[in-house]
Amino acid sequence: VLVVRHRMQSSGKWAKAMDIVKEFDEKCATPIAKLRQVADAMTVEMHAGLASDGGSKLKMLISYVDNLPTGDETGVFYALDLGGTNFRVLRVKLGEVDNVKKEFEEVSIPPELMIGKSDDLFDFIAGELAKFVATEGEDMQIPAGTQRELGFTFSFPVKQSSIAGGTLVRWTKGFNIEDAVNDTVGTLAGGRYTDPNVIAAVILGTGTNAAYVERANAIPKWQGLLPKSGEMVINMEWGNFRSSHLPLSEYDENLDSDSLNPGEQIYEKMISGMYLGEIVRRVLLKMAEEAEFFGDTVPSKLEKPFILRTPDMSAMHHDSTADLRVVATKLKDILEISNTSLKMRKVVVELCDIVATRGARLSAAGILGILKKIGRDTVKEGEENHKSVIAMDGGLFEHYTKFRNAMQTAMDELLGEEASRNIIIKLSNDGSGLGAALLAASHSQYREYAES
Ligand code: BGC
Ligand code: MG
Repeated sequence: VLVVRHRMQSSGKWAKAMDIVKEFDEKCATPIAKLRQVADAMTVEMHAGLASDGGSKLKMLISYVDNLPTGDETGVFYALDLGGTNFRVLRVKLGEVDNVKKEFEEVSIPPELMIGKSDDLFDFIAGELAKFVATEGEDMQIPAGTQRELGFTFSFPVKQSSIAGGTLVRWTKGFNIEDAVNDTVGTLAGGRYTDPNVIAAVILGTGTNAAYVERANAIPKWQGLLPKSGEMVINMEWGNFRSSHLPLSEYDENLDSDSLNPGEQIYEKMISGMYLGEIVRRVLLKMAEEAEFFGDTVPSKLEKPFILRTPDMSAMHHDSTADLRVVATKLKDILEISNTSLKMRKVVVELCDIVATRGARLSAAGILGILKKIGRDTVKEGEENHKSVIAMDGGLFEHYTKFRNAMQTAMDELLGEEASRNIIIKLSNDGSGLGAALLAASHSQYREYAES
């Protein structure tokens, strides 16, 4: 009798745990109809954000980049690329397109500088930049007395007031700096240098965002003279998108309210690398607490926010061993959970799949939103249909294969066979640094044009 009761209890717990998974899975569902609603909402918000400042959750920031590289740029340029956890200083010598000489150095940012005064952060950056400039070799062949041009790309939202000036809108991704130019815009410029069909850039990394080329006369809030090119790059800050159509679960809501920026960056919190592993941890924690999924005590490591990083989630998700050995090792090493059964490990993989697939499909819906806004989502009868290339950067897209594949599948489903042949998502590795350097180049052209 005892044995039977014990078995019943434990199967009761298993059933409870499976209910939690099932409920979460249902909440996260992203059927095509839902993705279309998300895409439409994105398009609507884009219009609203372009109409007036504060008109939408989407800031739709004017970048002041009104001409993009053509591929004919030459010279030596420097760039600073300040990202989530590190920054990069780089030097490029531009000649022919396929003859870019690039040198760079990557420096990690001391944690105390991430939460201090911006002066200290920028002093540190300036010091590292100076060291790097001092290593400039003869092979760069720069005539003596030449002033160096420096582009600056920044993975945070900046409301620009000119091409080389602006104020920070807010810190995202765990940075919090008192008082203090955008990586998507850099990626777009970098992409355009090598491919004239690039019309937008998306970053799927620690954070997420998109920039695209808009017609200048489709930006009601733009007060200045219309640029010669008739175009303007818009930094959407799409991470802050939110819509009642987003499939938000209780775990997302709690993650948000516990975050440094509650109520903000809701789309980013469902999609980007900073958060995916954390969502999985939260579901596992609930299963441990309410269904004793990992035994009768809750593993204490599992209570620690952000302990499960997205690269580890990805490693578990891609585990192709028959006994899910990678999952077992990760659970043990990171969460100090040992003795998991194969059945349990399969559930962990399933959770990773639910979270990654939802993020990937929502990203695809966002891209469709942009394509719709600029009329590139369908094939037009009797017209020349240009290829539309989206320059993509970010570790999540680059390294998380199942995420990348799920995103491409959703794109194909949304666009249909014919249109999807014309839409290409192209990994533009590290495009933002090259792009920033190129914008330093077009900025010198820009000055000439402003004076003429
Ligand atoms: C920031 C954006 C940035 C994106 C990608 C987001 O957290 O708000 O400004 O472009 O991350 O790095
Ligand atoms: Mg970056």
